[in-house]
Amino acid sequence: MKHRLAIIGYGGMAGWHHQNIKEKIPAIEVVGAYDVREEANEKARENGLKVYSSLAELLGDKRIDLVTIATPNDFHRGLSIDCLRAGKNVVCEKPVTLNAKELEDIMAAAKETGKLFSIHQNRRWDRDFLIVKKAIDEGMIGTPYFLESRVQGSRGAMHGWRGHKQNGGGMLLDWGVHLIDQAMQLFPEKVVSVDAHLFSLYSDEVDDNIKLLLRFESGTSMLLEMATNCFILQPRWHVSGTGGTLVVEDWSCKGKIVKLREDGEMAWEDDIVYTEAGPTRTMAPRPRHTTEEAPLPEVRADWTEYYKNIVDVLDRGAELIVKPEEALRVMKVIDALFASQEAGCGLKVDI
Ligand code: NAD
Repeated sequence: MKHRLAIIGYGGMAGWHHQNIKEKIPAIEVVGAYDVREEANEKARENGLKVYSSLAELLGDKRIDLVTIATPNDFHRGLSIDCLRAGKNVVCEKPVTLNAKELEDIMAAAKETGKLFSIHQNRRWDRDFLIVKKAIDEGMIGTPYFLESRVQGSRGAMHGWRGHKQNGGGMLLDWGVHLIDQAMQLFPEKVVSVDAHLFSLYSDEVDDNIKLLLRFESGTSMLLEMATNCFILQPRWHVSGTGGTLVVEDWSCKGKIVKLREDGEMAWEDDIVYTEAGPTRTMAPRPRHTTEEAPLPEVRADWTEYYKNIVDVLDRGAELIVKPEEALRVMKVIDALFASQEAGCGLKVDI
């Protein structure tokens, strides 16, 4: 039996859900949409969807068993709870809510109704992320101890509702939630400290250029940076491991691993090296014979795994990949990062 899906909020991201499900997920039929804007409803009609005149009409449509919520962030909590209570399974866009407490309310409704609730953390299937994960999991650079994960642009202000606090705008909630989720997938261990540097260069209301530091229980640390004011880009990933360094340049995933050769012992008694900035041993270039270059690992990156998993959970009782409990930890980290910004310093946490 096909699952019948309706989309709430038929804006930019909804079009993406609609198109991709239609082309790639045969077990789901996108049937209808509901939006508060007439132009959005017109678009949904043009794309062959039934347009509901109210939320109540959508919730009362017995054919619909799955709803995707793609509205601005401040509506996620209320709409998710309404849908769950109407007996629908729910996929909610990220950030799932504005804070951890709101998500706990949704989780209580999911428990009470026994319906599925998941969050569209689609960047778990980004190729650059999967490359880094595979390299770490396979020990390709030894033990990672400091990772830098960046998305940088120079387009200035946050667009539309993303520039308003009331709508849950700002970079930490918009992109932060993706990069923190990825970080916590790489290191599924306790986060023990957070330090947020949130800059508002283009807005009086929300953060738009941010640097976040997370420290994990094992001692591994991550710097996450998201910028809209960066005119000279740094690599998407720079990962320091005990046995080498990994760089992924950008979303096209050019990059490399440079690691120590097993037979590449360096003789410290070698003469001091004279660089343009004077003599040094520690910071001089390493003799070439002591390192080797390796390509980044091959990975299969397929975003459709997200909805395939939703179908598998509903039809075959499979394990949900993006779990509300994981999103709750991410939201707790985000709450702590806002508190760190407020305090003006790093904070110890136990998340
Ligand atoms: P958008 O502004 O393009 O679309 C939002 C739509 O929701 C609009 O058509 C608006 O009229 C409608 N809407 C507003 N309030 C509503 C309500 N109460 N009920 C019904 N419809 C309502 O925004 P967008 O870029 O599509 O973002 C939507 C959501 O998707 C956000 O949560 C955003 O963070 C998320 N998103 C996720 C990704 C991703 O990669 N996972 C990418 C972009 C956006």
